[in-house]
Amino acid sequence: MDDVASQADLPPDAEVSPAESEPIPLELNGLELDELSTDLCLALARAYQRRGQHSEAQAALAVALRAAYDGVTLADQCAEAALELGQVQQAQEILEARLQKSEAISAYRVLAQVHLARGKEDQARELAERLKETNSTQITALNVVGEVALALHQLEEARDIYATILQKSPTSTTGLLGIARYYAALGDAEAAHHEVASIFAAYGDHPSRWVLVASRQIAEQVGDEDWLADLESRLSALDRRDDQALAMRLRLAGEGRDSRAAELKRLHARKRTFTTQPVTPVKDGGAAPAEPETPEPPAPEPLIEEPEAPPDLLDALRNHFGYESFRPGQVTVIQSALRGEDTLALMPTGAGKSLCYQLPAMLLPGATVLISPLIALMKDQVDNLPQSIRARTAFINSDLDQSEQERRLQDLAEGRLKLVYVAPERLRQPPFIHALRRAKVSLFVIDEAHCISQWGHDFRPDYLFIPKALHAMFDLSPTNAAPPILALTATATPTMREEIADALGRQMRVITTGVFRPNLRYEVYSINSQEDKMRRLVALCRETSGTGIVYARSRESCEKLAAMLRGEGVQAAHYHAGMEKEDRARTQDAWASGKMRVVVATVAFGLGINKADVRFIIHYNLPNSLEAYCQESGRAGRDGRPARCILFYSGGDKARLTQWLQEDALDLDFLRAVYREIKRLIGGNVGLLAAGDLERAINNSLPNSQASIETKVRVGISLLERGGLLRRHFDAPRIAYVTWAGANGHQPPPDCGTFLAAVQPTPSVPQSVDLVWLAQRLGQSVPDVEEHLLTWRDANLLEYRGGGRQMLMELLPAPADSTERLQTLLDTLQGQREAQIDRLADYARSTACRHKTIARHFAERLMHTCGVCDRCAPERPTFSANSAKRRASTTEYTPPSDSLPAEESLVRTILACLLNLRHGVSKTGLARTLIGSIAAPPSGKRSAYYGRLAEMRASRIERAIEELIDSGYLLRNLEGEYPTLSITHLGRDYIGGAG
Ligand code: ADP
Ligand code: MG
Repeated sequence: MDDVASQADLPPDAEVSPAESEPIPLELNGLELDELSTDLCLALARAYQRRGQHSEAQAALAVALRAAYDGVTLADQCAEAALELGQVQQAQEILEARLQKSEAISAYRVLAQVHLARGKEDQARELAERLKETNSTQITALNVVGEVALALHQLEEARDIYATILQKSPTSTTGLLGIARYYAALGDAEAAHHEVASIFAAYGDHPSRWVLVASRQIAEQVGDEDWLADLESRLSALDRRDDQALAMRLRLAGEGRDSRAAELKRLHARKRTFTTQPVTPVKDGGAAPAEPETPEPPAPEPLIEEPEAPPDLLDALRNHFGYESFRPGQVTVIQSALRGEDTLALMPTGAGKSLCYQLPAMLLPGATVLISPLIALMKDQVDNLPQSIRARTAFINSDLDQSEQERRLQDLAEGRLKLVYVAPERLRQPPFIHALRRAKVSLFVIDEAHCISQWGHDFRPDYLFIPKALHAMFDLSPTNAAPPILALTATATPTMREEIADALGRQMRVITTGVFRPNLRYEVYSINSQEDKMRRLVALCRETSGTGIVYARSRESCEKLAAMLRGEGVQAAHYHAGMEKEDRARTQDAWASGKMRVVVATVAFGLGINKADVRFIIHYNLPNSLEAYCQESGRAGRDGRPARCILFYSGGDKARLTQWLQEDALDLDFLRAVYREIKRLIGGNVGLLAAGDLERAINNSLPNSQASIETKVRVGISLLERGGLLRRHFDAPRIAYVTWAGANGHQPPPDCGTFLAAVQPTPSVPQSVDLVWLAQRLGQSVPDVEEHLLTWRDANLLEYRGGGRQMLMELLPAPADSTERLQTLLDTLQGQREAQIDRLADYARSTACRHKTIARHFAERLMHTCGVCDRCAPERPTFSANSAKRRASTTEYTPPSDSLPAEESLVRTILACLLNLRHGVSKTGLARTLIGSIAAPPSGKRSAYYGRLAEMRASRIERAIEELIDSGYLLRNLEGEYPTLSITHLGRDYIGGAG
């Protein structure tokens, strides 16, 4: 084996060896410094500094700093560079001015470093204390506290802080690095090295620069010479690559066409402005709100005040799309992407996120790659593009046959495509990476970016492969600097935002336009029985005109409910993953074209469908989290017209959901089964494996057949990988076919030698090759072998075709603590899920404006109440088909259903009685009090209202109470031992105002 490896004369990885190469010239190509963009100036200043050209570095910095007061993002970058280049005072001034505009933890972090650099330990400590007090839930904030503690040698404090971070997110790079630095400070070189090694492993041994820099500090501190030398050489390879990219940008700027900066300077001629937010950090939420208005969100991301669209950009919009103006947020996001900033854009569903990458794709010089989880929709999405864009756009997915896929890859590689849509799985395929490497990629876009978050409602482990794929794409080709990333989502809490940035290894600029969608009327219905639930469903579907979706949890209930609705005269069909493909397509088309009014579906339905006129979305069962709820209900009313989002809720639902999630949750036994079956199926330490085979094997090996096995296996593999038990590599074909073209007179290049010796192909005859076997023979990794075959294919030396790709698994020596590791990952997952259910229940029960509650969850502040949700406007406004016939809404209470008491005195009496009772009373208790039952609670018997409605039946009163809960006049409080009622502001207003 070793022999073969040493004989292997395949070309070495195109890695640059810095020792033997000349420094890369960084020339301004006739430009003055102040003709460069700020971004480019800063990069240049840093590069000069690294090379020891200090006066050049200062000159470039000085020019860049002129932009330091233009906007917060530039300010942050300038302050950081100033600090690095020793301009501490300058850095402080910039930061203070910037924090006046809006606060951000990233800026506080640099400020803390400034304080430390100036020896102002007290100020650093004070800042850390304040962040700890006010933003204790955010990893970035905790990291500042940890950094200050480390700098001041408060080691125990630092250890606790980083332990907390790791508890929140066990694989957080920030957390692991912090712990490593703690060990280094203690002088425990081995432990420090161990932690750093685990970070490197997580990045496939190619961590980003900041990790390398931090590791170098650690290695220096513990005095490990070999380790230090290794890190130095990695960093200088990286420096060299960055220098090469910089040299290219300078050249392009000289030619007046630097894509990422200078050329686009004209596109963002105007300054960005920001709404000013208070500078003092505000407290974060903590326990469930007793008084719902009190808790304020953690320091919000600054909401962008939209800059005016530059004329060139408007022209481009009109030419390509025929739209007259940009929607909120679009200009800011587009400019950020064009400038080459790594950006995370949070914009509500229907806000027009797609345009934020489609337009840049047409303007940037190279190709734009779009990662989207929605394979089924790609064709439609591309078909619906304006012609000028569609002509240069393609999707590549498994719906296409092999030769069509290859043709499109060729188009991509040869620069004929500007925009390409793929699913994240595609990033595991070397031919795709190979094509991207040949194409110039200007922008890398991640749609539905919440899928990156492992605690997100729609976690896709394949998204975690993105950094590795990016590395493979760009690090091997030094002329091709890694492109900026634009991540888009409608829903990401602050924790998820951090996780996304962490997983991508980039510092993302967050741009948010706010989640508030004023046309959505959020309503929650308290439900007390199955019967009640179905009755309400029918009533809601009947009274609300237009198309709607009812989300139910199981396939079975989708079918039952749809049938029930049809029986009640509502035009309805069901939709779920268990149906035949054609049936699903037929249902979806009928619904999308307006022929079918209501679809009862599981949550996958509607994702990414651009049907603008959905008038209502009813959640028959609780969704998994408030994020999921917002995502799903956000599919209503994309046309901006009124739409209803209705959630059915009962206390029992919460318990049931918790139980479902527990049953559905992964456990150690399941992970063991996954591990065991992988081991058995690959029959060694490295091997190929088809996902379907694995799923079947696991299902057969477990006592109960598993629901949603596909997702569970997918997540299971990812957990095993994070627990250090296995590594999933790029996928590889089970069998590849190679046709050697050597006969037509060419002399094979010498680096094909060992390949030819191993395979011994007959020229022009297709030969099947087992790549795993070949890789072992050649002492290479499978993707490397495939990369060589692809390169030779491009050189017309052979034809290459690899089909039927499978997962390539490598089992690693099991770490001694593997069980604990996995258990920790599982526990965290479970804890997170429970917290999500709690948040959802809080939403359902809160008396506050629904929009406000949602905004707070996403760390946004809504300054006013919405005026449309069931809390703000308990009577349903004009939604129903025959609404015109109804009288206009008034402030008077109208009983929602004719079967219920219309007498105002009943409502008034119930409300007044409740107000009169001092102790918490249940629905039954209140009804018994009013009829004068001997079973009434003691406080009821003492009350003046005891027996006030003696002529009525208790059940009638109870129904009225339910209606009052639904209408937001009463609130059922589920916190205590038994559910008690309380009266809302609305209820008080009602009796106050009318009496
Ligand atoms: P989402 O943010 O949910 O991804 P989409 O990108 O699918 O939203 O956009 C929703 C709709 O808005 C699409 O039909 C799109 O064509 C339209 N749209 C986007 N930007 C504009 C604009 N500037 N002017 C008019 N319509 C727009
Ligand atoms: Mg979208």
